[in-house]
Amino acid sequence: MTVLRYGAATDVGEVRTENQDAFHSSAHLWLVADGMGGHRGGEVASAIATETVVGLVGAEGGAVLPVAVEQANAAVITKSFEDPGLAGMGTTLTAIALVRGEGADGTDVLRLVNVGDSRTYRLATNDTVVEQVTVDHSLVAQWEREGRITADQALTHPQRNVITRALGVDAVVEVDTWDLPLVTGDRYVLCSDGLTNEVDDTVITEVLRSVTEPADAAAELVRRANAAGGRDNVTVVVLDVVDAAPVPGTGPVDLPAPVDPVDPAGDPTGPSSTSASTTPARPEESVPRSRFTWRVAAFLGALVVLVAVTAGGVWLWARNAWFLGVDPGGTEVVVFQGRPPEGVLWFEPREVAVTGVQVDDLSELGRRTLDDPVVWGSQAEAEDQARRLGEGSRRVLASPTTTTPPLTVVPTTVLPPAPAPAPGA
Ligand code: MN
Repeated sequence: MTVLRYGAATDVGEVRTENQDAFHSSAHLWLVADGMGGHRGGEVASAIATETVVGLVGAEGGAVLPVAVEQANAAVITKSFEDPGLAGMGTTLTAIALVRGEGADGTDVLRLVNVGDSRTYRLATNDTVVEQVTVDHSLVAQWEREGRITADQALTHPQRNVITRALGVDAVVEVDTWDLPLVTGDRYVLCSDGLTNEVDDTVITEVLRSVTEPADAAAELVRRANAAGGRDNVTVVVLDVVDAAPVPGTGPVDLPAPVDPVDPAGDPTGPSSTSASTTPARPEESVPRSRFTWRVAAFLGALVVLVAVTAGGVWLWARNAWFLGVDPGGTEVVVFQGRPPEGVLWFEPREVAVTGVQVDDLSELGRRTLDDPVVWGSQAEAEDQARRLGEGSRRVLASPTTTTPPLTVVPTTVLPPAPAPAPGA
């Protein structure tokens, strides 16, 4: 008998004072969300997203997971408009739901979704190293895919915390979706970047190979992240597909034959395996389906319209901002359009100009400026700042020629011609 066994662990880490990660781990749904946004925003965003997905999947079944994530996006946006103190909050989310009877020949599948840079890995029986199943929606991942930086550079790049897709930012969110067959021996790990920024795939693999119990493996991974620095909140959910009798008290899920496949002829289109932004709600179990009424649909439709209108304002606000950062190579100061990563989410940030100022030439203060950038109202202002930073660095490095001009001015003003000696004195 195929059973699912699972466990989870989370920790605030060694540096931060609040844990803005959220997770869920139950018989049919496993989820990690990494909230961000000033003050308590991040915590609220990840909690709202988690509650929304847990609620909808609980009511409608695992098949609606991608739609549930879209609704979580709407819920986060709506909340951030209700409470100005929460403006700009957002969250990543990766989740797996058990879906009955939608695989080949009516088998069960694991439906995986992802938005942002939290990750889901899989370690199959014969794998030598974990495989990342999800694709990061982050600036460095995008640069890496474009061949502009290497994987090693991405690990330490100053812009590595910048994400390009999140819940709570845009009225329409594209949800990456995969359907994965249940394969005995597969081990899945869902985690926030607090794990992957601290330990590499080798360490993750080693822990997954050496610790059998899912809850213990999750706890050990969190310990490793903290031991490596623990600079961020870290959350890990481990899910095992095993062939065994259920073990009492450890939360296994046994998987009986799919329940009564509903109208097999009425569903010609299977769910997309790549993108779910248009996947319709298609719960396959008869009881949940009856709850997905036109009233729910009308409510959700109205919510989407509301969110679309308000998000237009956020769109303008987020794009009407420029600041200085570092190019993919990590050497040159460039101008970004968008909002910096701390406090609010970036809005598909992109480089709009190079400045010619080299990072290596900056003073210590100049470098700190890049870590905590000033947001400007125009590209020209950001470019001006770059010029000032560049001039500041040149002044420090320059030869005395830059200090001579003031000296040439002084004699003409403070040294009048000496009076002629008085005749006959
Ligand atoms: Mn994080």
